[in-house]
Amino acid sequence: MSKNYIVGFPRIGEQRELKKVLESFWAKKCNFSEVQKIASELKKRHWNYQKDAGIEYISSNDFSLYDNMLDTAVMLGAIPKRFNNLKNEDLYFSMARGNKSSFAMEMTKWFNTNYHYIVPELSLDDEYKLNATKILSEYGEAKELSIKTKINLIGPITFLGLSKRVDRGDIYELYSKIIPIYEELLKEIAKLDENITVQIDEPIFVKDNEVKILSLIKPTYDRLANISANINIVVMTYFEHSNEATKVLVNTPIWGIGLDFLYGEDNLEYLHTVADSNKKLIAGIVDGRNIWKNNIVNTVQLLETIAKKINKENIIISSSCSLLHTPIALKYEEKLDKQIKNWLSYAIEKLDEVSLISKLFFNDADSLDKKEKIALYENTEANKSRETSSLIHDTVVHNRVEKFTKLQRDGEYKDRIKLQKEILGYKDLAITTIGSFPQTPEVRKARRDFKNSEISKENYEKQMKDYINDCVAFQEECGIEVLVHGEPERNDMVEYFGEQLKGYAFSQNGWVQSYGSRCVKPPFIYGDISRPKPMTVDWITYAQSKTDKIMKGMLTGPVTILNWSFVRDDMSRDKVSKQIAVALSDEIDDLQKAGIKIIQVDEAAFKEGYPLRDEKIKIYEKWALRDFKISVSSAKEETQIHTHMCYSEFNNIIKTIEAMDADVISIETARSGNELLKIFKEVGYKQEVGPGVYDIHSPRVPSVDEIEQQIKLLLKVLPKKQLWINPDCGLKTRKWEEVKPSLANMVKAVQLVRDELDR
Ligand code: GLN
Ligand code: ZN
Repeated sequence: MSKNYIVGFPRIGEQRELKKVLESFWAKKCNFSEVQKIASELKKRHWNYQKDAGIEYISSNDFSLYDNMLDTAVMLGAIPKRFNNLKNEDLYFSMARGNKSSFAMEMTKWFNTNYHYIVPELSLDDEYKLNATKILSEYGEAKELSIKTKINLIGPITFLGLSKRVDRGDIYELYSKIIPIYEELLKEIAKLDENITVQIDEPIFVKDNEVKILSLIKPTYDRLANISANINIVVMTYFEHSNEATKVLVNTPIWGIGLDFLYGEDNLEYLHTVADSNKKLIAGIVDGRNIWKNNIVNTVQLLETIAKKINKENIIISSSCSLLHTPIALKYEEKLDKQIKNWLSYAIEKLDEVSLISKLFFNDADSLDKKEKIALYENTEANKSRETSSLIHDTVVHNRVEKFTKLQRDGEYKDRIKLQKEILGYKDLAITTIGSFPQTPEVRKARRDFKNSEISKENYEKQMKDYINDCVAFQEECGIEVLVHGEPERNDMVEYFGEQLKGYAFSQNGWVQSYGSRCVKPPFIYGDISRPKPMTVDWITYAQSKTDKIMKGMLTGPVTILNWSFVRDDMSRDKVSKQIAVALSDEIDDLQKAGIKIIQVDEAAFKEGYPLRDEKIKIYEKWALRDFKISVSSAKEETQIHTHMCYSEFNNIIKTIEAMDADVISIETARSGNELLKIFKEVGYKQEVGPGVYDIHSPRVPSVDEIEQQIKLLLKVLPKKQLWINPDCGLKTRKWEEVKPSLANMVKAVQLVRDELDR
């Protein structure tokens, strides 16, 4: 007996095959049949990987050509009216990406992951109708390969909770329209085969839900689980504990429940509710969101603890969530340090872990065959080496970070700002930008060539400096008042720093799907973090030497660096973050010693890191705040600290933002007029604010008039001496043809408003 389970498998392909064929299809370079061919090859390959690893519960319908929420909308026939005239793949990809005449559906983050899903648009007067084609045919595809799959669905309560209503009103009013379609679907599924497992994902159950939502659980799963004796329903949760929902689910006729024991530690505490119910427990114990080798010995121990409460026969060993959130195959990592590589496990390696753990747990070590015994031995050794390796553990860093006492900068804001205004002498409505300027093909090529040793260091630096010269000249000419160097040397705001910090590593092929065909390759923190030498000082001082105006130094903050990396799992996140913060404080010290007077510390992902459960928010805010403050603690009173955040909703976090104590914060409010700025006034926010005055996410050039009106709106909320004027984010994704006129218009608009205020 060894029962094991994988929640879902990545679909992009280990060589990003799906990405490539989709993009080639979208560029009209191949037919849709080519896409279908690659898709079926990928599905087949992924099923076989799982089968060969000895996985018992393998999914179908975890595949998608774009996104599973979009697939679910299609399954329900929830097609927004603007796409009514389209069919098949034209319809599907137009919903995802828009087309000439209709804008795309919105996209947003899938819980606290870096995956983005398409937000379904629902309305009370739309008619919904089952379209089960994809689900039924994918099951058939696997069956032809003699693989009997479980069928993955996104659950109705999560689906509704993540959708939006275009006709306004409560989304759950649509409940009664959706549920019959799920019932009908299950009836279709029941006809497919004998004894089918259907995994219904309800990750929304791990949030703090209103009673109204919780009250839907019992009726929903009473109904769905009663459709057919032929179907075993597993309700799957992940990313946190789901205690409130678990308590209810055990009193419905579902067959099993999936709990995440890695990110939802509390699931263990409440396990007795599941025990009494005699339901199957899909025990998520192999990390589906990180890249580290499982510690198999420890995991088996955890399972033994679980088995004290749950009848062993009812336990099924599983990944903690879909492996969608990990890279796929370690075998392509040819350049990684051997030792570091030996600590890693991507999706394919995780299959073997799940399989081995289940053998070990259900049988015992003696039952393992020779290959498995070696695998277990190697796993133990790899974990031991991680505990002691000098690559990871640096006592100098430990001691320094532990004893780091400078927890905040000197001086209070009201005194600092006086000093700064005197020294820096900027006007009200000071004009600046967020940091990056367009990353032209030439800039990208120079970076790439340098990385591949195809051009010399001198050549590379000359090209970067030329670019900086151009940026400086343009900004002076245009009338920007606080300048930036343009960030040509940075491929990415985290990778750039990761590459220079000790304790960071980079994969060659560690791609993870971010949305649609897009993937990201997060760097990973494997060891103690330190800064061997200054990271930005040369570039910034060079840029400063080219102008008499103030050049703003540009760093990425500790919380953002952390949140956009895979983080080591042998140390708590807050400790890792503190190490990054200390390294950054040294950088700031070096910058100001080199004569830099304003330094911006970007925290684009500060809000992203917020926990799913309210009970954990305080803890997160405490260390995130601590570490931002540590990173700027070296700043002298006269050094002005800016921060930038890529969002506009601050209502719930404004007190924390204020407590960060940055002298200036720039934010992304351009698309909301001045509505979202009002919270700053309401709480009596004292520091200076640069609400973006135009949206850089679109190629459109805003007119002078438009920006002028926008500035006037801002002035209705905050006084001119508290306001900075800037675009709402970095300009690296834009073209110079768009940036130049846009910024020129922004400067003109400020002048007009200043003139009017002076009159
Ligand atoms: N300084 C960065 C830039 O301008 C900030 C980017 C961001 O916050 N996403 O590109
Ligand atoms: Zn931004």
